[in-house]
Amino acid sequence: MQLRTALFLLGALPAWALGQQTMVGYSAANAAKQRDLEANAIKRPSATIASTHSRELSKETHVAGTPAQARTRDYVIAQMKKWGMETEVRAYDVWMPHPVSVKAWRISPSPKELSLSEPPVPGDPTSRLAQYPTVNGYSGEGDVTADVVYVNYGLIEDYAQLDSMGISVKGKIAIARYGRSFRGIKAREAEKHGAVGLFIYSDPQDDGYVVGDVYPDGPMRNPNGVQRGSILNPDGDPSTPGYGSTQGVPRVTPDKMEISHIPVVPIGYGNANELLKFLKGPAAPRGWQGGLAFHYHIGPGSVKARLAVKDDRATRPMKPIFDTFGFVRGSQFPDELVIVGGHRDGWGPGAADNVSGTVSILEAARSIAEEMKSGWRPKRTIVFATWDAEEWGLLGSTEYVEDDSLRLSRKAVAYLNQDVSAQGPRFSGGGSPSLRPMLRDIARLVPDPAGGSVYSQWRKATATPDTAEPAMGDPGGGSDFAGFYNHLGIPIAEWGFGGAGGVYHSQYDSYTWMTKFGDPSFVYHTAAAKIATAMLLRIADADVLPYDYVEFARTMRGYVAPIDRAMAQHHFSASTSALSASIDRLEREAQSFNAARDAALANAPSTQVLTTTNAALMQVERSLLRPEGLRTRPWFRNLIYVADENNGYANMVFPSVNEALRANDASLTQSEIADLAGRFDRAAQALADARAALGAR
Ligand SMILES: [Zn+2]
Repeated sequence: MQLRTALFLLGALPAWALGQQTMVGYSAANAAKQRDLEANAIKRPSATIASTHSRELSKETHVAGTPAQARTRDYVIAQMKKWGMETEVRAYDVWMPHPVSVKAWRISPSPKELSLSEPPVPGDPTSRLAQYPTVNGYSGEGDVTADVVYVNYGLIEDYAQLDSMGISVKGKIAIARYGRSFRGIKAREAEKHGAVGLFIYSDPQDDGYVVGDVYPDGPMRNPNGVQRGSILNPDGDPSTPGYGSTQGVPRVTPDKMEISHIPVVPIGYGNANELLKFLKGPAAPRGWQGGLAFHYHIGPGSVKARLAVKDDRATRPMKPIFDTFGFVRGSQFPDELVIVGGHRDGWGPGAADNVSGTVSILEAARSIAEEMKSGWRPKRTIVFATWDAEEWGLLGSTEYVEDDSLRLSRKAVAYLNQDVSAQGPRFSGGGSPSLRPMLRDIARLVPDPAGGSVYSQWRKATATPDTAEPAMGDPGGGSDFAGFYNHLGIPIAEWGFGGAGGVYHSQYDSYTWMTKFGDPSFVYHTAAAKIATAMLLRIADADVLPYDYVEFARTMRGYVAPIDRAMAQHHFSASTSALSASIDRLEREAQSFNAARDAALANAPSTQVLTTTNAALMQVERSLLRPEGLRTRPWFRNLIYVADENNGYANMVFPSVNEALRANDASLTQSEIADLAGRFDRAAQALADARAALGAR
């Protein structure tokens, strides 16, 4: 009796409070075996091997749709085959025009053509190789000449400020600085306000000399460094919205795609200086001044520019892209999938973005494949994926998710994302709150290159008070987890090691940069791979899936008060009490489930019981999907987190409710609160079903 009470209490504690004593979702006997397995497996990722993969995969520019990128596919598949893995390549045909010619000029004062390429720097051999043109992916075609207007970050509020000053960009070429929003939103807003072309530049204040020494003397962006990048706002191939780009499917024609219609060209601050320093007109308002050595003005009328972009959309817009998969078949629950993935394409050599993530996946795959030589098999199937064309708008992962949505909806247990896994010493992690306690647990297990555990360094670097856990990121947008999370409601986690860097999407994101500044001895690549290895093993081998719906419910509760405050500001009379009650019910059910789970695991439940329990558990977060999606964006079906449609990077919680609030619609807000409360009730019911499946009352 005393023992049972003790078990009950332990079960009710959050996972982090248990530390090493128990392992969530494991019987005591299996937990002991698992600890040995994980301790052994995380010794395998090797800095020497990571460095070799990094050099090989970053030895040339590998943009999606090019022969060099097909070679990275072959490299990854060859490695996985060598370790005895089953592999698969999935090809999709996507609408992805590549530039034929990109040019820009200052027309007045004193005409000159801007030099758009990134010149070689001493000591970096890949900076001498062929480069991809400096154009934003999915830029419109065009040849335009017009006055230049500075629009700050090109945010919605920046255009409102210009309006209030009586300045319009209609018929003008806008110049916006990078930062504060996704570049696709900058392009959308410039076009919406009538601009005929757009330059997006990297201001030295953002990631250049104001921050630190510039490449090759330091890690930051030099005057010629250019941030390429896509301006596509929807996720996936724009010719097949909502379904996989497989052979023979119907295609949307370009005139009906949600794409830019104006030329959009990224430039470095060397070129931006050549335009901005001559601008007259009103002085830049507060907050609009950047890091160039003069006071910024807005224009227009004193600087005229010309922008010309031509691509292959008329001749060869369709390109094949290739996702790769390596599989380790599960022994007990072979249909259940634990997936780790990261994109394999880049804009240049891409040592950080995203060779580092690819290397983490490769080293985790090798570590787990080696474990199998002793006869061990994971209980669930583990999938090691690398995605193509992430940089163009998450194309590879989105087409795969859409193509295989039925299976993933039913059987994907978790998706772990690796995007820029190592470019410095500073750890960060995030994802669905249901997986956060496990990620913290694994961070305690993995040694940090700077001493102690990744977890202890993380706490130290973020100055987390003793009473709290380090803050973790919410799934917003901008990487390959989106299809899994936003579209299908599969729990996701991601992590990586960051640092000072100004080579994002530039030719200078190279092996040389990495060995000089990012991760010179590849120990952070290795640490990321160790975390991947342990995360995969922990999820794949659990008797009961190790989600934490107590932490999940508590996190959700924190999102209710801001809704109350916003409703008060709008003078809405709606109430959140039904929503709060549903979230309370979810937490109570989660606590009861945890207690029942730990009691049941002491009695070795059958595979049948575990399969039914886990199937019910997988429904908890799926219950928080709305099949018809958000009103603003039907593809986004998860009602918990989404990227803000007015920013693209910033995260929005409870988007169905918060978008109704933003629209200032009282009755819609009320009905969205009721809708969300109903879905939390269904999530709580899924936990009750899981508990019933264990035979508990
Ligand atoms: Zn990336």
